[in-house]
Amino acid sequence: MIKFLDLKKINEQYQQELKEACSRVIDSGWYLLGRELENFEAEFARFCGTQYAVGVANGLDALTLVLQAWKELGYIEDSDEVIVPANTYIASILAITANNLTPVLVEPDIHTYNIDPQKIPEAITPKTKAILPVHLYGQLADMPAIMQIAQEYNLLVLEDCAQSHGAHIYNKKAGSWGHAGAFSFYPGKNLGALGDSGAITTDNKELDEVLRALRNYGSHEKYKNIYRGTNSRLDEIQAAMLLVKLKYLQNEIQLRQSVADKYIQGIRNPHIVLPHIFEKTAHVWHLFVIRSAKRDALQQYLNQHGIQTIIHYPIPPHKQVCYEYLDTLSLPITESIHKEVISLPISPVITEEEINRVIGICNQFNH
Ligand SMILES: *Cc1c(COP(=O)(O)O)cnc(C)c1O
Repeated sequence: MIKFLDLKKINEQYQQELKEACSRVIDSGWYLLGRELENFEAEFARFCGTQYAVGVANGLDALTLVLQAWKELGYIEDSDEVIVPANTYIASILAITANNLTPVLVEPDIHTYNIDPQKIPEAITPKTKAILPVHLYGQLADMPAIMQIAQEYNLLVLEDCAQSHGAHIYNKKAGSWGHAGAFSFYPGKNLGALGDSGAITTDNKELDEVLRALRNYGSHEKYKNIYRGTNSRLDEIQAAMLLVKLKYLQNEIQLRQSVADKYIQGIRNPHIVLPHIFEKTAHVWHLFVIRSAKRDALQQYLNQHGIQTIIHYPIPPHKQVCYEYLDTLSLPITESIHKEVISLPISPVITEEEINRVIGICNQFNH
């Protein structure tokens, strides 16, 4: 079976360094908010090209805490509207509703699967305060267009970068376009910890300071609570793991890129729509997502031939039980994407032989 993603194989490459880093933390006797986190935050901010990076417990918290911080700073208030793509992972929407804000779902571009900037202005109302673009599957949303709209309408921009570490256009990386970027280091992401963790990037000093308090019970100084914060810290062990893995991220992105190139050159089947790339460096190939009107048959066929695939995602947020009140929205592009997408195996450790097998089986599919 060709696995969708072989995490063991990915981390085995660095096991010596990871084990040493782990021992270093154990021996230090200091497990939270210490030197490992400080180093990782500095390195990650440098990688993204931002002034600051704040480590938190996971990607959902990264998104949620930025919106909370903007509320604490008085930029937004309860029931304000946040524009967000309709086809995204549920976390993008959960962060909005967790803050008593209103998600306004906007259709994606059918080619890139990212929010269609042309449809943003018509979704703006006097209550709109922010745009939350998602760089889905690893490809940057059209940030030049989105930032221009944000400037024109005076809106805040929070990028959901959970799938797009290192993606860039004009040498400007994911997480450095908006007023803040939220990252996840869930083990399966392109930069994955060995457990949960996340981070927020920003150039705004005030936001950085509020976030540092919010992740630690709303307190800068022990037992003095300015905000109703939470416990969302990136622990020292995970920071140490991430410091090791960050060194290899650029190389891993290049490996993913070459897998994607081979798929794009090799897969030729009228039943399969290949991904559309608007700029080579803008895609870091977290996922290689193809589309087919015969998606379910294709998935079954690939499975029968030993190729594991996953659907990202089978049910759009507005069709989820928890967002029943959004069920009546008409979002035909989003719904057709969810019916047709399927993700092929891609990773820095997939072999040449496996890639060729995936291509061969895809090209044989004929139902
Ligand atoms: C993974 C992911 C998140 C959430 O990250 P966690 O670390 O799992 O909380 C948010 N948004 C998107 C688009 C994601 O893919």
